[in-house]
Amino acid sequence: MQILDNSTTPNLWWYSLKQLEEDNSRKQLRYSKNPCLVQVKSIYPICPLHPTSYHISIFLSSNIIMTPTKVVDVHTHMYPPSYISLLQSRSTVPRIHSSPSGDRLIILSTDDDSSLSPSARGRPIGPEYSSLSHKLSFMDTHHIDISVISLANPWLDFLPAGEAAAAARRINDDMNEQCTIYPGRLFAFGTLPLSGSVEDVVDEIRRLKDLKYMRGVIMGTSGLGQGLDDIKLEPVWAALQEQKQMVFIHPHYGLPNEVYGPRAGEYGHVLSLALGFPMETTIAVTRMLVSGVWDRHTQLNVLLAHSGGTLPFLAGRIESCMLHDGRLKQDGKLQGRRTVWDVLKTNVYLDAVVYGEAGLKAAIEVSGADRLMFG
Ligand code: ZN
Repeated sequence: MQILDNSTTPNLWWYSLKQLEEDNSRKQLRYSKNPCLVQVKSIYPICPLHPTSYHISIFLSSNIIMTPTKVVDVHTHMYPPSYISLLQSRSTVPRIHSSPSGDRLIILSTDDDSSLSPSARGRPIGPEYSSLSHKLSFMDTHHIDISVISLANPWLDFLPAGEAAAAARRINDDMNEQCTIYPGRLFAFGTLPLSGSVEDVVDEIRRLKDLKYMRGVIMGTSGLGQGLDDIKLEPVWAALQEQKQMVFIHPHYGLPNEVYGPRAGEYGHVLSLALGFPMETTIAVTRMLVSGVWDRHTQLNVLLAHSGGTLPFLAGRIESCMLHDGRLKQDGKLQGRRTVWDVLKTNVYLDAVVYGEAGLKAAIEVSGADRLMFG
């Protein structure tokens, strides 16, 4: 159920009727898993074009129990001081460099064009990336109760193997420390030293359980360098499952530039952001599905960025192609496998970063309204 506006007119809330449970004049409203009882004054459709949306007027009185769930933003990035320092110390991408117009962040090698002036390379990096007070102000402005902050791409994927474990410890401690400044308002997804050894990664996953505000980990689609269907990731998935850590899977690498054609340069970042990111996520998760990650780790929970890329739309096609594939059948990989639909409804959470109602409806359809997260 979506509360569209309850700030200016507290006795006039807007809900989606399809999530109301009918009960004459008293109705039980369910917002996420917390029920609240309200007495309804009147209900009428908002607009004939939106038959499931109704304007609901309710009575507020002391004998009405109202416990709306808090708004939790699960997709919101922060660069802690130790990560800013790391990027400032680098001369290759990703890096932060000083320019006459202020510090600028370059995360894509295509943006590190030496023919451009320093002020035109990358993007400005302001307090929105690193200031906690800026984050809290943003949360208050948008009525966000809690943010689960995470490092932005490309995390630590670029570090030499020998530096990754120490950097992950430093940054995770740093993020946990930031959460203590606003207790109850901030939690975090940790970062893993994926360019290091598998042992480094597993050790860090286990260490995270002692950091009070950690609620999982964020990772890209490259895994240990060979993607998320890499058999070498098995101990990592096992440790994440054992520690009950949510894995926030987020794109960074996109698709090879050649797929966008010779005129791609005229289109800025449109094709790579609008299509490359979602397809990267879709391919990465489909590789996990085909390789049976969730058949072996049935309790492994993931949160997929951007509502799973195109996964909700393509789930039926992926399932059909797997089911009818001669090679999978010949190799005995179809026996006892879990369906794509089962995994989507059991192991997958989706954020709501799709910028359109059709995408949101598809996300709810495949994973359920209670698995679609604000963010
Ligand atoms: Zn993001």
